[in-house]
Amino acid sequence: MKISTHQYLGHLTLKLVLLKILVLLFCNTTIYSQTAENNQKELTVLIAKAFIDVQTGKTIMNPVVYIREGKIEKIGSGLEIPTSAKIIDLSGKYILPGLIDAHTHLCHEYHGELERVSGANTIAETVKLTEGDRALLGAKYAREMLLSGYTSVRDLGNSGTNSSVALRDAINKGWVMGPRLFVSTRAISPIGGQFSKMAPEMQNLIVSKEYVEINNSDEARRAVRQAIYDGADCIKIIVNNDKLVLSEEELTTIVEEAKRAGVKVAAHATNGDGPSLLAVKAGVNSIEHAYTISADVLKLMSEKNIYLVPTDASGVERYQKRIQRALAANVKIAFGSDLYYYNPQTTRGQIAVGSYRSYKESGMTNLQILQSATMHPGILLAGEGKIGLLQNGYFADIIASDENPLDNIRTLENVVFIMKGGDVIKNIGN
Ligand SMILES: [Zn+2]
Repeated sequence: MKISTHQYLGHLTLKLVLLKILVLLFCNTTIYSQTAENNQKELTVLIAKAFIDVQTGKTIMNPVVYIREGKIEKIGSGLEIPTSAKIIDLSGKYILPGLIDAHTHLCHEYHGELERVSGANTIAETVKLTEGDRALLGAKYAREMLLSGYTSVRDLGNSGTNSSVALRDAINKGWVMGPRLFVSTRAISPIGGQFSKMAPEMQNLIVSKEYVEINNSDEARRAVRQAIYDGADCIKIIVNNDKLVLSEEELTTIVEEAKRAGVKVAAHATNGDGPSLLAVKAGVNSIEHAYTISADVLKLMSEKNIYLVPTDASGVERYQKRIQRALAANVKIAFGSDLYYYNPQTTRGQIAVGSYRSYKESGMTNLQILQSATMHPGILLAGEGKIGLLQNGYFADIIASDENPLDNIRTLENVVFIMKGGDVIKNIGN
């Protein structure tokens, strides 16, 4: 038997009142659970006040989402609700796709007080922490990200040799809680990685734990193959560090080899246009940071469908102007938090959601911010049809907010419901 949404809501009112009383009595409104893979054949139906279609910018009232085996089977306004279905009632809330962060370092923690000598912090972390320590540190930050609404993140190095792979696999097995991870393993870089200068006899030992240094195209090819073998989902390259810049030949080889393996390339590029232009010409998939990139290079990025991943802080005029140039050039923006500082006052997830304020200051509309937080990184990380939108066949990665984020983007700083792959991670009720 099937009943209409309206009839169903009528039947449910009394039940909901009783349930709310129970929930208040126990005062524990948050539920955490994450399975290795949600194979639930039974139908779950989620109802909400409205659905934010981040692709069109429309607010669609009375959405009904059919969820089965961790994916969205069907989504539409006012669909019938089978009586046999398990119901998740968010009828006072706005639903949208889970948030995505395209640039994190979950297995890395920077303590400013150690930095009395330049580079001391990263050297201490690399030398003192085991791979196990780094993976467990990553477990802490992965959980924090998920609990702020990030259902997918891309982890771009500074994660020891392979800690991010161990972390990704542990999340996928349901051992620890976290977003679905797309990891790069060690970044491929010029000599020295991103470490400050150190004694030559120490370089090999320390640098190679965090970076793979290359000096010609054969080494570039080997580095990509090593990353794939180690379990990388994508390749991270450091195009420039200080005066050292990878060559055109090395970059072209990296992109060619990555394409052959079907993985994408994320390019760290700073310091004006030079490094970005080299990476864009080689055909990477995203440029990270590019704080001062020019309109000309941005135009080329737009033509080649290369994403910009701005990792911006608030109040920096040159970052804001660069976002405006990127928007004018129609470059797709994918949000990247790039957080690694230790901060005992809050969680990394909360700082990440707060970072949308810098995009707002840069003149992005709420819809543009939402697209940079969901749809654009969704395609950049996973290709079409998997994450970043709420459509048939996508993973059931869903968050909910009290207000319409198209009216108030800061409502994302306090999401009230989180579902990852059909598993309810947090639900503070209707
Ligand atoms: Zn970074």
